[in-house]
Amino acid sequence: MRMVVGIMVLGQLLTRLLLAAHAGDRLAAARRILRDVPLIDGHNDLPWNIRKFLKNQLRDFRFDDLRETHPWSRSAWSHTDLRRLREGMVAAQFWSAYVPCSSQHLDSVQLALEQIDLIRRLVNKHPQSMVLVSSADGIERAHKDGRLASLIGVEGGHAVGASLAVLRMLYELGARYLTLTHTCNTPWADCSTADEPGQVPHIGGLSNFGKNIVLEMNRLGMMVDLSHVSVPTMLDAMEASRAPVIFSHSSAHALCNSSRNVPDHALRLLAQTGGIVMVSFYPHFISCGEKSTLQDVAAHINHIRKIAGVDHVGIGAGYDGINLERLPVKLKESFNNCPTSCQLPTVRTPAGLEDVSKYPELFAELLARGWSEKDIRKLAGLNLIRVFKAVEEVRDRMTEEGMEPLEEEIPKEDIIGRDYCRYNIKRVDSTP
Ligand SMILES: [Zn+2]
Repeated sequence: MRMVVGIMVLGQLLTRLLLAAHAGDRLAAARRILRDVPLIDGHNDLPWNIRKFLKNQLRDFRFDDLRETHPWSRSAWSHTDLRRLREGMVAAQFWSAYVPCSSQHLDSVQLALEQIDLIRRLVNKHPQSMVLVSSADGIERAHKDGRLASLIGVEGGHAVGASLAVLRMLYELGARYLTLTHTCNTPWADCSTADEPGQVPHIGGLSNFGKNIVLEMNRLGMMVDLSHVSVPTMLDAMEASRAPVIFSHSSAHALCNSSRNVPDHALRLLAQTGGIVMVSFYPHFISCGEKSTLQDVAAHINHIRKIAGVDHVGIGAGYDGINLERLPVKLKESFNNCPTSCQLPTVRTPAGLEDVSKYPELFAELLARGWSEKDIRKLAGLNLIRVFKAVEEVRDRMTEEGMEPLEEEIPKEDIIGRDYCRYNIKRVDSTP
C-alpha cells in the first residue's frame, strides 16, 4: 500500500516537473520571438503619473528602477520603469499625452503641450535606453539598436480645442495618434459613455467637422485611435478614414460588455478596413470586475482573433493607468490628491501581468493555447507596424494628390455644443 502511494506521489511530481519544463520552454520561445520582432504596446499612462507625483519635474526622477523609490514603490498606479521594460522585452511604447476632460474648453491644449514636452524630456534624459520615434521604420531601427522606441499618443480629442491648426501642430511635435475622445463628448465626437443605458447621444457619432478631423489626420499620417469613443463614432470614423484605424487600449465587448470595449460588428468592420485592436489589461474591461488574470486577457485576444482575424489584434496594456478610472469622480479626485498616503482600493493589474516585466508570460500562455510563432509575431508588433505603414502610405498618396491642409470653418452648431459626458464640473487640478 505504502509503495502504491509512493508511486502515485512520484507520478504527480514528475507530471508537475514535465509541465513546468514545458512552461519554461514556452517562455524561452516567447523571449526568442521578442528578440526578433519588436514588442509594441499601444498605451502607457506613466506621463500622467509623473504629472501627479512630480508636477512634471524630472530632476530627481530615477526611471531606471522605481521599485524602491518613493512614492512609486507604494503606489498601486505604478507599473513601469526602464529595468522592468527591459525585462518585459518591450521594444516600442506609445506614451500617453493624456488630457483630462475637466480641462475641455479651458486649458486642454496647454495640458497636451505640457505632456508632450514631458515625454520628449523624459526620452532625451535617457538617450542610452530610449529614442523618440515618429515612424514605423523608426520602431524597427530602435529595436535593432536596442533602445526603447518612444512614441507619443494624445488621449482625448478635446486636446485639439476643435482646431485643425492645433491638430497639425501636435503632429509636428511628434504625436502619432489622437484618441478621438476620452470620457467626455467633444463638440464633434461622442464618447463611449453615450452608449450606456439612459444616456442620450450628443451627435450620434462624428459630426462633419469630426470627419474632417479624421481626414486631416489621414493627410498628416496620424493614426485615428477609437478607444473611448461610442460605437456610432467608431463606425463613422472607420467609414470616413482613408487609412486603417487603431484601438490603442480596448478589449472585446462580447466577453465584458463595457462600453469601453469593441463589439463584434465593429471588429468585423475593423478587419475589412485593415485596422487593429490593441488589447487593454484593465480588469474592469477584461473581467468586468475588480480582479482579472493573465488567462482572462488571453481570452480577449483569442476572441478578437476569432472575430477579426489574427492580423487585427495587438497589445495596449494601459499600465500606469490601471487605477480608479471607473470610480465616482469625487472619490477618484480624493485619491488623485493623495497618491502617497491613501489606502488605495483594490483595482489591480491582472494576476500574472502585474507590471511591464510580464509580457513574455502572456505570449507563453498563447503558445500553450496553440498559437504559432508566426501569429505571435503579428500580435507582438508586426500588425501595428503594418497599420502604421499603411497610414504613412495614405499620407504619401494624399500628398501626391496635392491635397492641401484643410481650412474648413467649424460649423457654428459644433462649437456651441458644449456637452460634458462625465466631468460636468469646473476643472479641479489633480496635481497633489
Ligand atoms: Zn484611456
